[in-house]
Amino acid sequence: MTAALELRGVGKTYPAPAAVTALSDVDLSVEPGESVAIIGASGAGKSTLLSILGTLERPTAGTVSIAGTDTSRMSDPQLSAVRAWHIGFVFQQFFLLDHLTVLDNVASGLMYRGMPAATRRERATEALDRVGLGARLRHRPAQLSGGERQRVAIARAVVGRPAVVLADEPTGNLDTANGRQIVELLAALHDTTVVLITHNASVAAAMRRRIRLEDGRIAEDSGAPA
Ligand code: ADP
Repeated sequence: MTAALELRGVGKTYPAPAAVTALSDVDLSVEPGESVAIIGASGAGKSTLLSILGTLERPTAGTVSIAGTDTSRMSDPQLSAVRAWHIGFVFQQFFLLDHLTVLDNVASGLMYRGMPAATRRERATEALDRVGLGARLRHRPAQLSGGERQRVAIARAVVGRPAVVLADEPTGNLDTANGRQIVELLAALHDTTVVLITHNASVAAAMRRRIRLEDGRIAEDSGAPA
């Protein structure tokens, strides 16, 4: 089976004056539909790993393949297209646009698909129904609770049915009950590869596979190939 995400010998060193090695020699293969928690102490390299998996940052060593395609030689516009078609992102701080309705925030997830606006809104309405916010389409983000805002962000991430969803501490700003709802929504994305960063043990336990980073290296991987 072609891996959804594959890193080979990936390293990331930030240049001087910091000259920090954030990742070293990471080999990682994530299968389609797998759910993975990335855990580890602050500074271990989790965010750097997620950014590299999502092609937001380029590694300084090694290769990143998405659905079997090596991204190393892709131009920045090509990488933007890969992200727009294949990857949905969810962040701890939600990053919704306050001046747009909930519906348009989600429809904006389809901006680069070359779809008519009416189709984008139809898809966005369906995605919001799936996260239980079908009755909040015309609200603004400021009128929603934190848990509801993160559900909007999930709808935006999945509205284009990406193969991969990457989430950076998606429950970090939420209480336990709202956090659980978010994890349930992510866990219910059966055909989607989900990789999330978390500091929360019960969130990590809800993912099929757990990878612990330490000093930029994989220290433990519950799902490493035998
Ligand atoms: P984590 O997400 O596990 O807290 P990060 O991936 O954010 O870890 O950071 C790993 C290391 O890389 C840290 O030492 C951090 O200070 C460093 N780092 C991250 N981003 C940058 C950057 N843009 N420039 C310089 N150093 C960075």
